[in-house]
Amino acid sequence: MNEHNFPQSFETRAIHAGQPADPATGAVVTPIYQVSTYKQDGVGGLRGGYEYSRSGNPTRTALEENLAALEGGRRGLAFASGLAAEDCLLRTLLRPGDHVVIPNDAYGGTFRLFARVVEQWGVEWSVADTSDPAAVRAALRDRTRAIWVETPSNPLLGVTDIAALADIARTAGVRLVVDNTFASPYLQQPLALGADVVVHSTTKYMGGHSDVVGGALVTAEAELGEQLAFHQNAMGAVAGPFDCWLVMRGIKTLAVRMDRHSENATRVVDLLTGHPSVTQVYYPGLPTHPGHEVAAKQMRAFGGMVSFRVEGGEEAAVRVCNRARLFTLGESLGGVESLIEHPGLMTHASVNGSALEVPADLVRLSVGIEAADDLLTDLTEALG
Ligand code: PLP
Repeated sequence: MNEHNFPQSFETRAIHAGQPADPATGAVVTPIYQVSTYKQDGVGGLRGGYEYSRSGNPTRTALEENLAALEGGRRGLAFASGLAAEDCLLRTLLRPGDHVVIPNDAYGGTFRLFARVVEQWGVEWSVADTSDPAAVRAALRDRTRAIWVETPSNPLLGVTDIAALADIARTAGVRLVVDNTFASPYLQQPLALGADVVVHSTTKYMGGHSDVVGGALVTAEAELGEQLAFHQNAMGAVAGPFDCWLVMRGIKTLAVRMDRHSENATRVVDLLTGHPSVTQVYYPGLPTHPGHEVAAKQMRAFGGMVSFRVEGGEEAAVRVCNRARLFTLGESLGGVESLIEHPGLMTHASVNGSALEVPADLVRLSVGIEAADDLLTDLTEALG
């Protein structure tokens, strides 16, 4: 329940959860508590429970409670970036000799964290097609501790059946981790489908305005929440107060933005599927997408991310990226403004040569919330 004492829908929680009017002033927006330390009333006499802002800060608490409420978890934790959140989770869950199943399509930085960082500490990983539950079951080993999933995945928009993998994970006694960055909790709620931990790059749809880098973890398990909070403080990659405030401000409009992102993406997909230079379109909302039925079951709408392949290989894909004008050429995603990029040379350069390598003729779009007609005009011109 909440401070208003009645059940609230997602949109209402997004605006209010964790953010009562400021007790000191009545300010309706949680202030940015830009402070590192707190006066104690005698040694150990903490007024609001705060002693030092790495361990806890009121602006961060507001965001963390909000994140937990939106994902339907018990504990939310806010970090300096999505990768900082992932690092905290991996160091909490894993010991040398442990094994993780990772997806065959994922953000390049996540793959790099496993292959170049975590592996050095004796953690093993292997790749499976997480859209195929049987392949994931077959990939489990005695020392498997976690199954890592991105759905929809970056950049190929693969869809994984969260409930089916949650069953497999539960039976095997391993944790299911879902990176919910592409969907956001408005479109998809992994914990309700049986996942153990949700990961976010709040840099993306949660922040929503391309003006902050942040990350989050949410879990429904109280004890795991405590362990993660211990590591968050012990390792220290926390989100600063202003960054927390920006993410909270973004989250207030998450629902309306995600609806518009999804509508605009549908229009873009219609254009791309009929275009003679486009050889393949990846979007879970397409009835021909192999994961469409699962996506329709576990998502409220299909989101704003669209990838496609073009006739003419890498050179043609790069040309489309360079010719776009309203779609800004840049990394990242999830902001109100539309972005275009070439994953093979940009966001996913770190997976080249691995099982996660992406096609050279692939272009990825983060479809923003501008007028759809303007976006279609720009894409038509960019495609030539
Ligand atoms: N997860 C996904 C799906 C991402 O796309 C990204 C970044 O692009 C991350 C995690 C990492 O987040 P950050 O860049 O905030 O560290």
